[in-house]
Amino acid sequence: MDTNINLNVFHSKVNLLNLDPKKMQLFLTSIGAKNFAADQIMKWIYNHNCYDFNKMLNISKNIRKKLNQIAYIKISNFSEEKVSSDGTKKWITSLNEQKIETVYIPEKKRSTLCISSQIGCALKCDFCATGKQGFNRNLTTSEIISQILQAKKKLKDKKLTNIVFMGMGEPLLNLNNVIAALKIILNKNGFGLSKRRITLSTSGIIPAIDKLSQKVDVNLAISLHASNNDIRNLIMPINKKYNIELLLNSVSRYLKNSNANRNGVTIEYVMLKNINDSIKNAEELAYILKKIPSKINLIPWNSFKNSSFTSSTINRINIFANILRKKGFSTTIRKNRGEDINAACGQLTGNIINRSKNHL
Ligand code: SAH
Ligand code: SF4
Repeated sequence: MDTNINLNVFHSKVNLLNLDPKKMQLFLTSIGAKNFAADQIMKWIYNHNCYDFNKMLNISKNIRKKLNQIAYIKISNFSEEKVSSDGTKKWITSLNEQKIETVYIPEKKRSTLCISSQIGCALKCDFCATGKQGFNRNLTTSEIISQILQAKKKLKDKKLTNIVFMGMGEPLLNLNNVIAALKIILNKNGFGLSKRRITLSTSGIIPAIDKLSQKVDVNLAISLHASNNDIRNLIMPINKKYNIELLLNSVSRYLKNSNANRNGVTIEYVMLKNINDSIKNAEELAYILKKIPSKINLIPWNSFKNSSFTSSTINRINIFANILRKKGFSTTIRKNRGEDINAACGQLTGNIINRSKNHL
């Protein structure tokens, strides 16, 4: 169901999980409910996991009856679970077309849910398993939100502290549905997460970064992965449309309006042996990021079947990191989590096939 639905014309029943808080209110007042009914129904759904209108006893009987006629609440269920030796869990949702994946990463001080926004991805980055599988379709807002509802149910008392849009797909190519999902995640009657605990990772769809900044403020992570356009053109076809200079300018524009990114934007940089991991590349990266307040996250490359890349050695990654640190950049090296269940970055394909393990 499209979230841009004309609320006056209902040809089919509406799944309320597709409505952001404002649309929920419009929808409910259009059927004669009180202004605060939207808050109440959101609380039932997102705080109490209640999907049955008949049980929402603080909603008037008349409105409950109408809701049963014109609306429904349907979550997409997880159909499979894989647990890694490091505690990471991968949950699979079977949609008609294909499977999507959601990854739960518990750590000492936080627990992060990595969610998918599309089935596959059209952008075909060379080093990414999702990109290699091609694009199928955008997820609806309800399919995005269902991943969180389901995870919360599975985790029972354990709290989710962070949500990252780093699963399958390019979130900014599914902008409207992702923005609606972000609004539900941020809303106090929704999941009520602070903007600093939500991260959207993008390969850099410039018009969408500008549009996002008008609509919602969350942490931004940029998949830069190269220190110059020659290298980026080679591994990320999107760079031919939106090159590094244009991308970094749009990041600056986003940062100007953003409170969530007060400590700088996250720059993601996958470490590919002999492609982008030289000392010169590290120096060049520091140079191009000079004017962008940023934290750099170096990602050891995760292997998958039929790929020609090799990850940089841990020794090389440390040298690279130290150059950036000396230039004043806060630099972290991402720990690979859930590798034994193919749940690590860039290993998500929705297919349950065995891929070779990553050897650093
Ligand atoms: N499409 C978005 C978000 C999903 S990918 C984006 O590209 O930003 C999440 C992160 O994993 C991105 O930084 C992506 O570039 C990185 N990634 C993709 N394939 C990878 C691989 N095989 N090994 C390590 N990181 C990978
Ligand atoms: Fe798509 Fe991101 Fe993978 Fe590139 S890295 S193919 S943008 S999911």
